[in-house]
Formats: sequence, structure tokens, C-alpha cells
Amino acid sequence: MDYKITLLPGDGIGPEVVNEAARALNAIADKYDHAFNFQERLMGGCSIDKYGSSLTDETLADCKDSDAVLLGAVGGPKWDDPNAKDRPERGLLALRKGLGVFANLRPVKVHPALIDSSPLKPEKLKGVDILVMRELTGGLYFGQPKMRETRNGKQYAVDTLEYYDYEIERIVRLAFDLAKGRKQKVTSVDKANVLESSRLWRQTATRLGKEYADIELDHLLVDTASMKLITAPAAFDVIVTENMFGDILTDEASVLAGSMGMLPSASLGEAGVGLFEPIHGSAPDIAGKGIANPIGTILSSAMLLRYSLKLELEAQALEQAVDAVIASGARTADLGGPLTTQQMADEILKHI
Ligand code: NAD
Repeated sequence: MDYKITLLPGDGIGPEVVNEAARALNAIADKYDHAFNFQERLMGGCSIDKYGSSLTDETLADCKDSDAVLLGAVGGPKWDDPNAKDRPERGLLALRKGLGVFANLRPVKVHPALIDSSPLKPEKLKGVDILVMRELTGGLYFGQPKMRETRNGKQYAVDTLEYYDYEIERIVRLAFDLAKGRKQKVTSVDKANVLESSRLWRQTATRLGKEYADIELDHLLVDTASMKLITAPAAFDVIVTENMFGDILTDEASVLAGSMGMLPSASLGEAGVGLFEPIHGSAPDIAGKGIANPIGTILSSAMLLRYSLKLELEAQALEQAVDAVIASGARTADLGGPLTTQQMADEILKHI
């Protein structure tokens, strides 16, 4: 089959890791007789430099017109001025909004051979296999009013945490659907003892839970969830939560795996184009050195195969190649090894 994939390498190490992920996808295409037609576009700081905009209308239109989008990372000190007219992160928010992706999926698995790279005790990490799902388009980051003003001579600021039931329903439903193919357990995380929006969240999750009799549903307050992620991470299967709680918990969960460079993510909507990217940023401290770990981006490509192209066998083949390479002891610098970005990808390619 023929597929069109838009590559947005972005800034810093983004181009380095996306290049290797594209090579891995091509190896899969060769093995399984597909054709992946890549179109590469600028986004983030590099797009500000060239077009004066972090995401141009043309680039967004090209993304919408493809089967999936693979992003590297955006941002860096060059574009960090808080008073700048445009910033790389704006492009990212506009892209998510433009593609209508409301669910961010971050699988966190601890590979047995990497248990010692995590700051947690090895016995806590055995069997950790979590899918954290973060709501992406609602909540505190988008609610209105959002403003700052002077009131009675004092600086005053407000953000608004708002949710409609349909926004909660679509992501919780997706969590139940994805739990079916896993350990069949959903943990819904909220702050229902304090927040009205969380009470609506919990009520909606409970109502939907009745439709999914085979799936175990429990509710945790976000403070308890953050503690349990460190004390008993193996107890979780699918975690589903609102935007800001998810922002914080996903970063906390990423520590379990040992290195930021290992972890993939997928952002999905009801239909249409999915957005796939590693969870790490543009890593300006190592950009240009050719030592970034490409695994997070290569595993994001596996998610792209699974969720957007519906090529499950091919997705598993890529994941198994990564597993085999880690088991063989191959390591980039972030994991204390000598391999360059390209050498690590070469190893993975050999196992496809
Ligand atoms: P970062 O994820 O870029 O880097 C944090 C640390 O992890 C650094 O020491 C870096 O060298 C290391 N690291 C990250 N990815 C790695 C990889 N693949 N291999 C080896 N080591 C890796 O986070 P930061 O330093 O806080 O942010 C840098 C820039 O990235 C900022 O401009 C930030 O806004 C941006 N950022 C972008 C995204 C995104 O594009 N989605 C996400 C987070 C941060």
C-alpha cells in the first residue's frame, strides 16, 4: 500500500532523530512491501527563521492532507524571548488544534535490560507497562478567561479550568477501548474532592464504565496517583486524565524508563491524521553532535504504523527490533554507551 507521511523534523536534535526514524520506516516498507512517501516541512524555530511563522497555513494544510505526521522536536534558546511575536510552542499548539487531536498517548515500558538506568529500585520496576492518556485540547491551558491585569493597584492573573462532558467522554471512551487490548484496567485521575470540573470528569468516567463491564475502572486523586506512580508503578495499566494533570504525570512516568530519549507518544483525534513524536524536546545541549538517542522517535514511528496506518504487524516488528537491540546491550550516550544516533539506528535496522 502507498501512504503519505509528513515529516516535521523541527529544531535541535529533531532532524537527527527524524532522519533515523524515516530510515527505519523505509526498512519496514521494504520488508512488508509498502511505499511510504515522505514530504518534509519546516515547523518551530526553523520555520520562524524562514517564514516568520512557527507553523504556516501551507504546512498545516500539507499535514492535514497526509496519512500521518511525524514530528521531531521544536524550540531552543534562539527563540526563547518571552516577548517574541511567535514562539515554536505556538506552532505545536496550532498543529494539535488544526489536526483535531485530543488524546495524547504515552506508553511507558521498562525494558528489563534498562532497569538499572532508572533512579527507582529495580524491584519496583518489574512488569511496568503503563499507557498514560492525557487530554490535550481542553482544561486549564485553553479555558477562558485567561488574563492578567492590575486590580486596586495589585497584579491579578486568572486561568480557567473548564471541561464539557463530551470532551471528557471522547478520551475516556478511547481509554476503555485501548484497555481492551491490554490488562483491561483503567485508572481515571482527577481532583474530585476539590474541583467541580473533576467531579464532572469522575461522573462521566463512572457512567461510561457501566458500558465496559469487562474493564476494571478505578478513580484516583491526582496527588495519590503521583505518589503511586513512584511507589507501585506496576499496578497501573491505562491512566486517563485531564490536560494539566496529564502534563505533569506523563513527565513523572517517563522517569521510570531511565531516559527521556526512549519514550514515544501519539496524539489522536476521532478520525483523521495522527501526530507522532518522541516525548523529549530539542535537547540544544547535544544538538549537532550526532549522539541523541533515536529510539523515542523510532518507537513513535511504530505507533504511527499501529494507530494511523493500521499496520499492527509492522508496528510490532519495529518494536521487537528495538527490544532486541536494547537486550543486546547497544547504548547511546544517554544510557552510558558509545553509540552515535546513526549507529543505534543501524543496529535497529539490522533486526528488522
Ligand atoms: P529536552 O527534552 O530537550 O532535554 C532534557 C535533557 O534530556 C537534556 O539534557 C537532553 O540532552 C536530554 N535528552 C533529550 N532528548 C534526548 C535524546 N533523544 N537523546 C539523548 N538525550 C536526550 O528538554 P529541555 O532541555 O527542557 O528543552 C529544550 C528545548 O526543547 C526547549 O526549547 C523546550 O521548549 C523544547 N521542548 C520541546 C518539546 C516538543 O517539541 N514537543 C518538548 C519539550 C521541550
